[in-house]
Amino acid sequence: MTLDVIVVGAGPAGLSAALILGRCRRRVLVLDTNRYRNAASRVMHGFLSRDGIDPEQLRQIARDQLAPYDTVSIERAEATQARRLDRVFEVTLADGRQLRCRKILLATGVVDLIPQIEGLDEMYGLSVFHCPYCDGWESRDQPLAVYSRTSNGVGLAVELTVWSRDIVLCTDGVAKLTDKHRARLTHHGISWRAEKIARLEGKEGQLERLVFAAGETLERRVMFFSAGQRQGAALARQLGCTFTRKGAVCTGEYEATSIPGVYVAGDASKLVQLAIVAAAEGAQAAFAINTSLIKEELRQAGDGQ
Ligand SMILES: Cc1cc2nc3c(=O)[nH]c(=O)nc-3n(C[C@H](O)[C@H](O)[C@H](O)COP(=O)(O)OP(=O)(O)OC[C@H]3O[C@@H](n4cnc5c(N)ncnc54)[C@H](O)[C@@H]3O)c2cc1C
Repeated sequence: MTLDVIVVGAGPAGLSAALILGRCRRRVLVLDTNRYRNAASRVMHGFLSRDGIDPEQLRQIARDQLAPYDTVSIERAEATQARRLDRVFEVTLADGRQLRCRKILLATGVVDLIPQIEGLDEMYGLSVFHCPYCDGWESRDQPLAVYSRTSNGVGLAVELTVWSRDIVLCTDGVAKLTDKHRARLTHHGISWRAEKIARLEGKEGQLERLVFAAGETLERRVMFFSAGQRQGAALARQLGCTFTRKGAVCTGEYEATSIPGVYVAGDASKLVQLAIVAAAEGAQAAFAINTSLIKEELRQAGDGQ
């Protein structure tokens, strides 16, 4: 059986698309590896009417609300390959099954590159973050560290002055700051430490201090980092989509990519990486997919319009 749509990904983008497509009575399969970008986070901010919700609870509500739509199913399975055949797409799953669909929506998100520092893992999502829009307000007026091994940390540190005036940029013995960078930091009252970091110390996920390799410490309550990210899946590349210089999939109107029939929504495609934006993009893609399917069906039915 050829499905109308395979949605790869069940974060806010994929679940939102599935809801709209289910309401359009489309036969939809949502694939999910249960690897969500914000898995380390217990509290999601900035989602209208859901500020402060546990992100897993948001997904569970969305899955529950999909239950009445009997043409939509969600399966825990990894899509390992996708290719275009003549008029349909073929998606291969990790267990070897091959599925076919008329349109494909990739909502596979991104994977953050997390700095490899002893002690960081247990603090990630609790007092170590990457996004000021997600966690800046809760960190307001706190002593902040900004971690980056590249000069990108300068921009992040300056941006964070909206939330705190007590900021130290730490470059972990790697990034070379130019005179211009230093002048900019000084102008904004930001200090910097160039030494290598040995570990983070704290209790129950709460950062208390950074310990440098030479043994010196820096008392801090919150750390933001800038370390890059990569696509959550290789499917867009396999399908021949084009990418921005920063590694996001290029999409145009309604989240359509350069490949007809392939749509990409959520973090995988845009630079504003917020859950509510991902959900909105999923809805937009679903709208476009349904419109395109209707046109095809009308053409087949001999409707010349
Ligand atoms: C620590 C942290 C805190 C955050 N806090 C906030 C916040 O407070 N507010 C906010 O708005 N945003 C926050 N974000 C950002 C938010 O998590 C993302 O914007 C949002 O999750 C993007 O949704 P998405 O649907 O694009 O991707 P995701 O939620 O990452 O979902 C990706 C989906 O794709 C699936 N997948 C990937 N590859 C495959 C494959 N090959 N086969 C099958 N399935 C696949 C995954 O299993 C998953 O279901 C935070 C992010 C992090 C890391």
